[in-house]
Amino acid sequence: MISDDDKSGLYSPECRDCPGIYMGETDRKMLTRVSEHLSSWVFSSFGKSAFSDRLLISGHAYKGGSAKLIRRENLLKKRRALEEIEIICHRAMTNLSILNVFTPDHNLIAKECAVDVDDE
Ligand SMILES: [Zn+2]
Repeated sequence: MISDDDKSGLYSPECRDCPGIYMGETDRKMLTRVSEHLSSWVFSSFGKSAFSDRLLISGHAYKGGSAKLIRRENLLKKRRALEEIEIICHRAMTNLSILNVFTPDHNLIAKECAVDVDDE
């Protein structure tokens, strides 16, 4: 059985020191991509990872073991769409602050997300 660490998709590492969460997508093993984020952070290497940059700037730390695969998806377009949906929904529905450098410009997705919330 393949563990989630070895699958591609959407993943979300968290900050240890604040309710910050990062949404990332990768076509490689989730663990490989997360290791790259953490390597940039450990070595204070700016510009390679938005998640790492945010940790370094704030002086915060990675919450060990928090990175998990939240959606499995092999297709890039679907991963990008899911990433955007997750960011918008997390902003709307949780107290978590999103650590991505992201400006939602797809109002359609925001509306879809809001409609789903209202329906429940
Ligand atoms: Zn933080």
